Amino acid sequence: MENRVKIAVQKSGRLSKDSLSILKKCGIEFSESSNKLFIKSTNMSIDLLMVRDDDIPKLVSQNIADLGIVGENVVKEKQLSDSSLQLNTLLKLGFSKCRLSFAKPKEMNLVEIQNKKIATSYPAIVKNYLDKKNVTAEIIEIHGSVELTPFVDISDIIVDLVSTGSTLESNNLTELETVMNSQAILIQSKKFPSEKQSLINTIISRVNSVIEAKDSKYIMFNANTENAEELINLLPSAESPTVIPLADKSKVAIHSVCKEDIFWNTIESLKSRGATSVLVLPIEKLSN
Ligand code: ATP
Ligand code: ZN
Repeated sequence: MENRVKIAVQKSGRLSKDSLSILKKCGIEFSESSNKLFIKSTNMSIDLLMVRDDDIPKLVSQNIADLGIVGENVVKEKQLSDSSLQLNTLLKLGFSKCRLSFAKPKEMNLVEIQNKKIATSYPAIVKNYLDKKNVTAEIIEIHGSVELTPFVDISDIIVDLVSTGSTLESNNLTELETVMNSQAILIQSKKFPSEKQSLINTIISRVNSVIEAKDSKYIMFNANTENAEELINLLPSAESPTVIPLADKSKVAIHSVCKEDIFWNTIESLKSRGATSVLVLPIEKLSN
């Protein structure tokens, strides 16, 4: 029991679904249940701790969880307000992307932030940002309904998380400058029993494979031998491609992993230079 690796995951919210999905893609099997706080994997020595996202950095720092999946925004806020936090940020996971931005009521004529009242759930990040810019302002910490505060005389402006901007829009707010960009990240405790090291490394390496695979594509096409080099140079972030002779001696098949998406214009450029039978496939796992 002691040596089971514990991973802290948000119980319910914007990170939950994708956090569980990435762990499943890593081969960790478990049965989901909306009201469980503790989920035991059925095939690996791993337990999931289902908690509020705000608690994840501390649980990892205190070794109650060995790994955690949480937004960069939450990690930064906790690190700025508690320098004793013991955690390493390992990998950006590519989901729950958002930004922490200033916003003002649409009709407000804002000349400068100096001396304004700013409502936010991220007081440490906002203070750090203002200090760097040498701006003085009053920060009002509030959790929940931050968008409402400029309209009830609690604040002049706000700093809040934005993804599409539709929530700001529906609350009659205009987005101003961005304080930070954020996405879900994998964090690790700095100290853990050495017996756990190997399984923790396996999990980290599998997560890495899953995120690399998500951004990568496998491309195959046929080409005239003399065009092969020119066509290979059109491939985005291609690892040294495989060039295979075909029955027709004047042609080769080219196969390559590309570490980024392949867009239509790349396919069209390949075809306009003689590539045929272009096939682009998603990659499920990529381990280097
Ligand atoms: P909890 O109950 O776990 O404390 P919460 O209400 O603090 O949940 P959520 O709203 O579920 O948190 O957001 C979790 C994380 O999702 C945020 O900290 C942020 O990293 C990310 N996120 C992505 N897009 C948005 C968005 N538009 N608004 C808020 N958070 C977002
Ligand atoms: Zn939270």
